Amino acid sequence: MQTQVGIVGAGPAGLLLGHLLHLNGIDTVVVENRDREYVVDRVRAGVLEQGTVELLRAIGVGAGLERRGLRHEGVYVSFKGCRHRIDMAELTGGKAITVYGQNEVVRDLIEARAATTRPLYFEAQDVRVGDLDASTPVIRFRHRDSEHEVRCDFIAGCDGFHGVCRPSIPEGVLTIHERTYPFGWLGILADAAPSSDELVYTHHDRGFALFSMRSPTVTRLYLQVPPDEPIERWSDDAIWDEMLRRMTTSDGWTPNVGQILQKGVTPMRSFVAAPMRHGRLFLAGDAAHIVPPTGAKGLNLAASDALVLARALKSFYETGSAEWLDRYSAICLRRVWKAQRFSWWMTTLLHRLPEEDAFDHQRQLADLDYLTTSRAAMTSLAEQYVGLPSEVSFESVGL
Ligand SMILES: Cc1cc2nc3c(=O)[nH]c(=O)nc-3n(C[C@H](O)[C@H](O)[C@H](O)COP(=O)(O)OP(=O)(O)OC[C@H]3O[C@@H](n4cnc5c(N)ncnc54)[C@H](O)[C@@H]3O)c2cc1C
Repeated sequence: MQTQVGIVGAGPAGLLLGHLLHLNGIDTVVVENRDREYVVDRVRAGVLEQGTVELLRAIGVGAGLERRGLRHEGVYVSFKGCRHRIDMAELTGGKAITVYGQNEVVRDLIEARAATTRPLYFEAQDVRVGDLDASTPVIRFRHRDSEHEVRCDFIAGCDGFHGVCRPSIPEGVLTIHERTYPFGWLGILADAAPSSDELVYTHHDRGFALFSMRSPTVTRLYLQVPPDEPIERWSDDAIWDEMLRRMTTSDGWTPNVGQILQKGVTPMRSFVAAPMRHGRLFLAGDAAHIVPPTGAKGLNLAASDALVLARALKSFYETGSAEWLDRYSAICLRRVWKAQRFSWWMTTLLHRLPEEDAFDHQRQLADLDYLTTSRAAMTSLAEQYVGLPSEVSFESVGL
């Protein structure tokens, strides 16, 4: 097979890029190693920035979002037993976030891809990329017992943190920046109507907790736990006890309890591989960077990488100029580092650190007090949480 852009990975980054290129008449082949059900059912992020919502609408994949997305104009920060609301829309000139599960985003994008009839291989085995410095790099894989080779002009490595693309870059090319945190998140999905219309981030002496939701009937909740905490150690009753103990506020607000539908522990990490390009391989999304989920930036960064890469590839095919391709990594990394800084700040503001002393604790409380009483501090959080302006315009990718 031959194509213009070979895309490894059918997560948000790969599917969005594929659709943006399709709309610009650029040929792609998408290769995914999991089956379709697994990719669609995977429960992950759920907070979309204003710009991500506008992008999904602009590419014609906004119908589900319109019907089932929950627009939030504010967010709560809770500490010392009191909730404080930050009115993001008022502070940012009307911007908001939308809660819409990543699995819904992926389902909508897969349906859009299927409608284009362009190739998307699920369950590809033994996926490899090669000849990254040559003019026609290659993706090889096995599918239903036959070997495939896709010759491409470019490869987009959108295969997440554990994919094959980043490790295929020769040693010494990438600089890795990494921070692991001494805690993880125990997350649950519960069959319970959300008792708050907006997210509640809780700082508590027993550790961080987050109240979130996926729909008008499903609550998504998280607890700070040790990074290697075995989930078997937590019965459903123990999870609810701890959730309620950390989240209940002095005015009596508390999450509704319901059947736990899914639970798991995720470690927290900050990671950046730079540059996000080697030869004709371009990394996008989690393949190049990971943020702790506290700032809700992972999926949104994947979307902004896809937009910038689409802009660069469109420019190359229309004009023959590689200028935008050469700038791709630098443009993305500027945004990535701001999202890293924001996610790290939210994480260290709200979590209990194992080594913290009384000074650290009081400083954290003072930070929270300042954040919830200073208009300048609230505006800073709000403009980052709803998403900083995009580096490229929608018009520049033909939208
Ligand atoms: C458990 C978990 C919980 C998360 N929770 C949140 C959250 O609450 N909020 C938030 O903002 N972000 C969260 N994130 C981060 C967010 O989900 C990611 O940032 C987002 O999925 C990035 O999209 P992506 O397309 O770059 O990568 P992915 O979604 O990881 O997609 C990569 C795709 O590549 C495929 N793939 C992998 N290896 C290969 C291979 N060898 N060959 C072919 N295909 C391959 C994978 O199956 C996958 O479909 C979470 C992530 C995880 C893992």
